[in-house]
Amino acid sequence: MSQKRTIELTCPMCGKPASFTLWDSVNNVLNPELEEQLLKNTFALFSCPHCGGQNYVAYDFLYHDMQKGWMIYLLHSREEKDREKVNASLERMYRLLDGKLGHTMHPYSFRLVHTLDEMREKIIILYDDLDDRIVEISKLFIRERLKNDHVEALALRYGWGAVDGKQQPVMYVFEAGGKMGMVPYTRQLYDVLESFFKLGQDADGTVYEEIDEAWAADMIRKYGGGLSGNSSHHIH
Ligand SMILES: [Zn+2]
Repeated sequence: MSQKRTIELTCPMCGKPASFTLWDSVNNVLNPELEEQLLKNTFALFSCPHCGGQNYVAYDFLYHDMQKGWMIYLLHSREEKDREKVNASLERMYRLLDGKLGHTMHPYSFRLVHTLDEMREKIIILYDDLDDRIVEISKLFIRERLKNDHVEALALRYGWGAVDGKQQPVMYVFEAGGKMGMVPYTRQLYDVLESFFKLGQDADGTVYEEIDEAWAADMIRKYGGGLSGNSSHHIH
């Protein structure tokens, strides 16, 4: 179920009071319009009824895809105690539902993200039926390639964009000074990495996992010499 509530806020642009509806929980099956807002980047966007100004309201929420078995939690805080709180509530829910009334929480994937941008990226990845772990590993390779072209990416984000007039999967490249570009993200790279790493099914845990580039770097370190140094050049 999707859960919403209305709060009173002060417009940051004109200073007048206004109300705003926020969603603590977004269920994309029951409320597909919310998924669309997330994809179009209009979710959590406050439009002032007085001055017409628009501003994002930063708040935490849960995104739940029942069909694909995904829960993604947007937690702005990076503090350990807040992460523990979110995981504790997941475990309570898990214990409540798992194995009861024929309802099972398996197999479910749980993810933790810290920004609305990261949330949107996960939803696009889900929408495109990709494995976010492979997408994050791909970023390390794309990052290396960009370095060869003397581009230092602050962040890479999966999405869709027009390259040579054709809409296709891309990695948006965020550089210092607000510069943004994009490079094509080929299915070939994805497939090669997927068959190389053979990650199998997602860990069946009861915590929200942070699957990002840091996770991918750890993962590759665990492979030890298998994918270090020159061998990375074999994957293009
Ligand atoms: Zn206003």
